[in-house]
Amino acid sequence: MNERITCLVIGSGPAGYTAAIYAARANMNPVLYQGTQPGGQLTTTNDVENFPGFPAGITGPELMVQLQQQAERFGTDIRNGWVTRVDFTGPLHKVWIEEDTELHCDTVIIATGASAKYLGLPSEQKYLESGGGVSACAVCDGFFYRNQEVVIVGAGDSACEEAHYLSKLCKKVTMLVRRDEFRASDIMEARVRNTKNIEILFNTETEEILGDGQLVTGVRVKNNDTGETTEIPATGFFVAIGHKPNTAIFKGHIRLNETGYIINTPGTAQTSVEGVFVCGDAADHVYRQAITAAGTGCMAALEAERYLSSVEVHATG
Ligand code: NDP
Repeated sequence: MNERITCLVIGSGPAGYTAAIYAARANMNPVLYQGTQPGGQLTTTNDVENFPGFPAGITGPELMVQLQQQAERFGTDIRNGWVTRVDFTGPLHKVWIEEDTELHCDTVIIATGASAKYLGLPSEQKYLESGGGVSACAVCDGFFYRNQEVVIVGAGDSACEEAHYLSKLCKKVTMLVRRDEFRASDIMEARVRNTKNIEILFNTETEEILGDGQLVTGVRVKNNDTGETTEIPATGFFVAIGHKPNTAIFKGHIRLNETGYIINTPGTAQTSVEGVFVCGDAADHVYRQAITAAGTGCMAALEAERYLSSVEVHATG
C-alpha cells in the first residue's frame, strides 16, 4: 500500500508529540507513528517534577497521555507501528512501515529518541520496572533521594556529571568504576574526585541490586582485582553507562556522528537531507530532557512548515 503524507512524525516522546501539535495547527495534517515504545522514555519514569506547567508534578505516563491527547485534539493521525526502512534519495521521502506500507512524504520529522543503556541484571530491571529505586536519569529522579545514600555506575562524562549533581542532593554517592581509570574528561573526573561526599570505587562491578521486593536497599559489588564482594547500603541505584540513539534505520541515509546521533545544522532541526528534520534525543546527547525535546520538536515543525512553503513557492513560481 502506498500513501502520500505531507508531514510524517516518527516517534512518540515529547519531541514527536510537540512536533505533531505544531504541525497539526499549521494544517500540515501530520501522521505520527508511535514506534515500539509509545510515549518514549518518560513512560519508564515515575514522577516528572521539572516539566514546566505542572507545579504539583505529573507522572511520566500521564504526561505522555496528555501530550498525545493534545496532538490528537488538533487532528494528528496517530498510528501504531514502526519504521523499518527509509529512502531519502528522491524529492519525496520514502518510509516503510513494517515493510507492508510505503509512505511518500513531503517532510519527515525524526523523533525516535535514545535509549539508556542498562547493565542487564534481572534485579536492576525488576526495580527499574517497579519504580523501586533504579534510574538512568539523575536530573529526573535525584530529587527523590535527598539526604539519602545512592550508588551510581559509570565512568564517563555523564556519570561524573550525574554523580556531581547527586552529591548536591544526597548524603553520600558511591561511584562504581569498572576499570582502574575514568573514561571522562580530566575536568569532570577532577570534579568528582574533589567532591567530599562522593566515594569512588575502582575495579568494581555490580553483581546485584539488593532490595526488599519493593524498594532498593543496597548494591552488592565485586572488586574484579581482588575478587572481594561488598554490600553497599543505598536507596537509589543510578545507571550512567551511556545512551544509544534510536537511529539505526537512518544510517547511510542522513549524516550521523560516530556514536549514531543525527547531525543537525547547529541551532536548527535541519538534517543533511532537505525536508528531513530531527528533534529530541536522537540528535541530543547533551541535555536529554523532556522539555528540551519538546522545544526542538516545535523547531522541527516550524522548519518543516517553512520548507513546505518554500517548495510550494518554487513549484508554483
Ligand atoms: P561514555 O560512553 O563516554 O561512557 C560510558 C561509561 O560507562 C564508560 O566509563 C564505561 O566504562 C561505562 N560502562 C559501560 N558499560 C558498563 C558496564 N556494563 N558496567 C560498568 N560500566 C560500564 O558515555 P557518556 O554517556 O558518559 O558520554 C557520551 C558522550 O557524551 C561522550 O562523548 C561524552 O564526552 C559526552 N558528554 C559530555 C558531557 C559534557 O561535556 N558536559 C556530559 C555528558 C556526556 P569503560 O570506561 O570501562 O568503557
